[in-house]
Amino acid sequence: MATVSLKSELPKLAIFGAGGLGIEMVKLLKKRQAANLVAMVDQSGYVFDENGLNDEQLIVNSLRAKSIAAIENSVQSSKSISEFLERNSTKIDAIFYALPNLPNEFIPNITKEIINQSEFNGVIVDALKRTKAVKMLSEFNSQLQEKNILYLTGCGATPGMLTSAAAVAAQSFVEIESVKITFGVGISNWKAYRATIREDIAHLKNFNVEKVSQMTEEQIDKELEDRNGILELVDMEHADDIMLEMAGICDADKVTVGGIVDTRNPQKPVSTNVKITGFTYEGKKSTHTFTLGDETTMAANVNGTVLGFLNAGVNLHKNYGISGLRTAAEVMPRFNPVKIHKKSLAEII
Ligand code: NAD
Repeated sequence: MATVSLKSELPKLAIFGAGGLGIEMVKLLKKRQAANLVAMVDQSGYVFDENGLNDEQLIVNSLRAKSIAAIENSVQSSKSISEFLERNSTKIDAIFYALPNLPNEFIPNITKEIINQSEFNGVIVDALKRTKAVKMLSEFNSQLQEKNILYLTGCGATPGMLTSAAAVAAQSFVEIESVKITFGVGISNWKAYRATIREDIAHLKNFNVEKVSQMTEEQIDKELEDRNGILELVDMEHADDIMLEMAGICDADKVTVGGIVDTRNPQKPVSTNVKITGFTYEGKKSTHTFTLGDETTMAANVNGTVLGFLNAGVNLHKNYGISGLRTAAEVMPRFNPVKIHKKSLAEII
């Protein structure tokens, strides 16, 4: 692959996972330059160029039909993440996990490997969903600090953008009664987001993470067929709860998450929103509602937020020396990388 010129002020990013979100992130990075994409890893292998992966569109096209191993100059490997880290962990500044988290330990185990067996000391951002997984990660806080890694977890849409919105909205109140998250997702084919849909099915009655991990694609097809492609999700085990508790906003049991996913239609079946109900210091009860525009896709809301937290993470890590585990409810996302505003404050005003 031909070399591209890197923007020296931007971090060198590796995307772990080249499925639905991973591929969409490559496209987003072309429009919102928050990082130099230098590596992509999937189950089949990895592709790495310290000078930047040049033809993102080629990657996108190749991956639609094939896998990383099919890309020119890629390294084929059945232990792609381990091999990639062994050779390149000091050559990257940031990692985005666009990986499935099936079972719950999958991403915590990769993180353990990064801490114990690599020299990486940059920023990790994920779009993790499960409460149990975030709890597991929180146990790594001091080890992450020792390795000078800043890990921002729960940085997708929910958890992520909606959790952060709840944390901001809570400021009107002295007590929070409830945080109610409802999401609507519309996609035309579940195979574009295999892990996302499997993980959603795991929340349905009579299913769990272990069971869906073992299901074949035909079984998933059949399950979706039986439901006319619609997944109705209630009382989900979503980390928005523990994240808002860790941030001191409210107890986890005051947070509920549910939604509807249409796997056959890109239109959202319901508008995604978060309602924060609380009491003001004057004793009045009120509800703030934050609703996402129906035109925004899951990929725009998840990956956009991931980039916002990547920007924030790089700023906090590089300029303020912050490391350890933080969640999206504790840190404000940044729309742009640190150096993009070259004007002084006086010029802006
Ligand atoms: P996907 O199934 O489309 O892609 C997963 C990718 O990971 C594939 O490229 C696969 O090859 C790779 N992979 C799997 N096992 C691997 C391994 N052992 N080593 C290297 N690579 C491996 O996934 P997706 O639908 O894009 O979802 C990614 C994650 O994003 C999921 O965990 C999902 O829950 C999460 N997500 C979060 C939100 C949110 O709002 N927080 C929303 C949507 C998705």
